[in-house]
Amino acid sequence: MAAALLMPLKAEILCALGRDVSSYKPASDQRPSSDALQLASSVNAAVKTICGTQCPTMALFRNSTAQNAMLIADAGQAKLLYSPQFLAAAYDAFGDSGIVAIIAHEVGHAMDATMGAAFIKTGWTPELRADAWAGCILARLNPGLSSLQPSLSALAKYPSPSHPGWNLRLPAIRAGYTQCGGAGAKFDARK
Ligand SMILES: [Zn+2]
Repeated sequence: MAAALLMPLKAEILCALGRDVSSYKPASDQRPSSDALQLASSVNAAVKTICGTQCPTMALFRNSTAQNAMLIADAGQAKLLYSPQFLAAAYDAFGDSGIVAIIAHEVGHAMDATMGAAFIKTGWTPELRADAWAGCILARLNPGLSSLQPSLSALAKYPSPSHPGWNLRLPAIRAGYTQCGGAGAKFDARK
């Protein structure tokens, strides 16, 4: 028993938007860039409108060995990681709206791990539940950041290996969006 206690606690990867998770080296965690931190703060402000003091807390790190974006549960702390290469490419393609959607999906995993919601359907996989929470967060974001077409395009472009098809993901995102105050017509028009 004593030997087991000396072994390091194994961090659990809740989501990785990329394939080779073994490349991640925790020792390379660095402080996030101010741009990334600002966008994550905007997402956090939206999340607070959903769960207030019950919201999961997490730390944001930049790490060039990480998969595109990852959420790791490590000794009771959730870590949201992004690779700077990925963030730059996603920003070029989809702008701030794409980045906040990716962050919202990762935060969605942490919310899913700590709380439930009526709009989460039984039978949904963790990825669909995180997508539904992402939709909910998108509905609560500062309108200047929640342009839906680039947000949805970014989510579609960077799936995890275990993500189901987009035809299943889109209704889950829409369910979260509309249940958290977003207009269905706006979602369907991708505005
Ligand atoms: Zn995920």
